[in-house]
Amino acid sequence: KKHVIIGAGILGASTAYHLARLGADVTIIDREEPGQATQAAAGIICPWISQRRNKAWYSLVKAGAAYYPSLIRKLEADGESNTGYAKVGAISLHADSKKLDDLINRAEKRKVDAPEMGEITRLSAEEVQALFPPIAEGVEGVHVSGAARVDGGALKDALVRAAVGHGAKYVFGDAVLQKHENQAIVQVDDVDYDSDHLIVTAGAWADELLAPLGINFEVKAQKAQILHLDMESKATEDWPVIMPQGDQYLLAFPNGRVVAGATHEDEVGFDPRVTAAGVSELLTKALHNAPGLADATVQTVKVGFRPFTPNFLPVIGRVPNLPSVLVANGLGASGLTMGPYVGAELAKLAMDEESSIDLSHYDLSNAIKKEIV
Ligand code: FAD
Repeated sequence: KKHVIIGAGILGASTAYHLARLGADVTIIDREEPGQATQAAAGIICPWISQRRNKAWYSLVKAGAAYYPSLIRKLEADGESNTGYAKVGAISLHADSKKLDDLINRAEKRKVDAPEMGEITRLSAEEVQALFPPIAEGVEGVHVSGAARVDGGALKDALVRAAVGHGAKYVFGDAVLQKHENQAIVQVDDVDYDSDHLIVTAGAWADELLAPLGINFEVKAQKAQILHLDMESKATEDWPVIMPQGDQYLLAFPNGRVVAGATHEDEVGFDPRVTAAGVSELLTKALHNAPGLADATVQTVKVGFRPFTPNFLPVIGRVPNLPSVLVANGLGASGLTMGPYVGAELAKLAMDEESSIDLSHYDLSNAIKKEIV
């Protein structure tokens, strides 16, 4: 079978890699959208202490976080040393120490069937500052040692390179679909790409791609702006992820890079601009949480579009009446966590193997608008 994948974000790149490893004939097409979610993402892998209670969501992020170490080993065995992944741990901060006790209780319960969380440790304000020097004074935290950070762009590139190493073809271009006698035809620049099986992992842009197949696909783009700072001379590579109170976070990468994110902007469409209000929000919250960042150099502000479905859950499944088309989407704000795992499972589904995901929770019909008759 010839498999064609449209979309080389984290989801499509992982699917291509796993399919190519299984020996399949794979072509992956991507038009390299500047707003690709994967390249803009922060890269926090720490699902266990989230307050979100949805079980279908949690089972994917939990499996996703657990899958990372073995994926990284596979990529390293394929010669990919720059995967952007490091298990640096995460610290959740709160001014109210009772809230930190609650968090420890919740975390200990979840650890029972998620040993990959590692050690859960209460930290004094001084201990927090020793691990992440720019942080505000006097704020205690809880440290989770199994948490990680990943550079989404670096991991995606490693997956695509390794897929190509296993025989996959990468095509740069804008894919267009047509329906012809109950088959989906893929074209790039008017050239047909022969396929027996199509996998659509086109993120926030999937609706326009699927429309010619007669599918009214409901995916919404949520815009995110995210700030990259440079602390030049600081040895930042081991700094943990910081999850303060509220919706903002901080994390660090090698060579002095500190990332502060992110905005959540609905209803602005695919507006690629870095805005005054966006930068103001990011800087205000970052400096409130970590006054020690005041002298950092502003390096860049990235913009990405998170793909959301109407019920905020991923969808995974075959298109009604077009069983040769497999669609996965809606990874939302946690796609770097679950994407590599979901991609590995998509590869199994594409090969007609059984998946360990209970697909009934992620039915594609949840993101297909019903015709009003
Ligand atoms: P994308 O990465 O958007 O990829 C879709 C691809 O499809 C694009 O490359 C595009 O070029 C291609 N495409 C679309 N249409 C076509 C076409 N017609 N022809 C060819 N190519 C096409 N998740 C976490 O787990 N932890 C985090 O800390 C985190 N932080 C985030 C911070 C920000 C600022 C953002 C934006 C997201 C964050 N996420 C995080 C979420 C995560 O990034 C996304 O859920 C995930 O990257 C989605 O991956 P995807 O492959 O589905 O989509």
